[in-house]
Amino acid sequence: MERIEEVLEKLQNYINGQFCPPIANSYIDNFEPATGQVYSLIPDSDEQDVLQAVEAAEKAFPVWSSMTNEERSQILVRVSEGIQKRLDEFAHAESRDNGKPLSLATKVDIPRAVSNFHFFATAILHYASESHRMEGMGFNYTTRKPIGIVGCISPWNLPLYLFSWKIAPALAAGNCVIAKPSEVTPYTAYLLGQVLDEAGMPPGVLNIIHGSGMKAGDAIVKHPKVKAISFTGGTKTGAYIAQTAAPMFKKLSLELGGKNPNIIFDDCDFDSMLSTTMLSSFANQGQICLCGSRIFIQTGIYEKFRDAFVQKVDRIKVSHPDDPETKMGALVSKEHLQKVLSYIELAQEEGGKILSGGTPVQLPAPYDQGYYLRPTVIEGLDFQCRTNQEEIFGPVVTLTPFESEEEVLKMANSTQYGLSCTIWTENLKKAHRVADQVEAGIVWINSWLVRDLRTPFGGVKASGVGREGGWEALRFFTEAKNIFVKS
Ligand code: NAD
Repeated sequence: MERIEEVLEKLQNYINGQFCPPIANSYIDNFEPATGQVYSLIPDSDEQDVLQAVEAAEKAFPVWSSMTNEERSQILVRVSEGIQKRLDEFAHAESRDNGKPLSLATKVDIPRAVSNFHFFATAILHYASESHRMEGMGFNYTTRKPIGIVGCISPWNLPLYLFSWKIAPALAAGNCVIAKPSEVTPYTAYLLGQVLDEAGMPPGVLNIIHGSGMKAGDAIVKHPKVKAISFTGGTKTGAYIAQTAAPMFKKLSLELGGKNPNIIFDDCDFDSMLSTTMLSSFANQGQICLCGSRIFIQTGIYEKFRDAFVQKVDRIKVSHPDDPETKMGALVSKEHLQKVLSYIELAQEEGGKILSGGTPVQLPAPYDQGYYLRPTVIEGLDFQCRTNQEEIFGPVVTLTPFESEEEVLKMANSTQYGLSCTIWTENLKKAHRVADQVEAGIVWINSWLVRDLRTPFGGVKASGVGREGGWEALRFFTEAKNIFVKS
């Protein structure tokens, strides 16, 4: 069927406080994962649009950076309230754009974007500078100033949640921002522009550029006046960005991929572990960088866990995002569904046995072209095979038995990644011991995805460079200057 472009909504960039079309007037299709249909068009921005945004940010910086923390805080609180007021609209947009259940967008994604703005709006009011006295000599005091213009680039899995997680501290610290959401899920970032107007954000302070990574994203990273890049996305993209930005001496924060272990000891609270493991495996269709995709189970409870887990997984309702009973919606794109399916095929070639799922789900029209996949559980794989080493980033988990702490640590630490880890045991000494030795930036003991926005967030090894969250983010988005005064 021929597409009639005129009826599709055209999203716009938000530059200098104005919505504007891309200068080259070129657009990218935006697909609705639930139906597989194009439902809007996204600006295919390039370096000309980025240039305009940088010019606007340059003009806005002296005003924004010289406001008091109190004044900036008030504007950011209003942004937070503006999203809260339109929560339903944002949640519907997020769910439609991403394929996630509407209930998840309503309960998690959008409230978290509200909290991100509110948290950093108030955090700057409590940010104190340091002073170090040198007895008999004088004292040092350290000021922290905004960097200037910074770039924030985010992925598609938690669109507004992760977009705001970067933008809010960057703005709170006094920077002007050129931000690019994922071209796969641009809609809520587009809506954010409307909220900025209402909140009284001065023009040019936050500029939102839509488009592809290789064109718009690359232009942000390469622009010499963009002094820092905060990026969340894949490890390969992170490496490419680092290669470009490092010789220009840009500050870099990279939040990258993961292949997180979920370590379950015999002596865990079985029921609590089982219900949380369902979430840590399949929440958001398994498309959370913190999902535990490698489940290691101590041999004493391996069969008990496997049988109970598979029974529950078999009952997960995969349906369209608006169905209130939906536990898993659509994967984000056709390409991503194909990638995940190719890993399921690979797992079988590598000797894995599929215990549940493994196949796409066919829903009735109008959802018959949507990207649905059954949650998939695989056992019988070596911990070193590709399925167990490479990030799949979908609703696919592997089960691997282990005997001892030493053995599970060797397997858990065997990948190039080191983002997060979950540990299940009632023996706290053991939990601390394993937490201490596991190679990860974030560890949850007897829980998963409990987030305190004050804590450092990020990974080790190929999972990233630097930390977000709390003071870490405010430190990243500022430059320290130490001043010594002789007494
Ligand atoms: P991606 O790397 O393809 O894209 C992320 C963003 O970078 C998008 O906005 C994209 O347009 C942009 N981009 C792509 N190429 C670019 C380039 N050359 N220069 C500048 N920008 C570019 O990642 P994705 O597929 O959107 O997201 C999935 C990945 O994100 C997974 O690997 C997942 O683990 C990771 N992730 C990590 C975290 C974390 O906190 N560590 C959180 C969420 C997702």
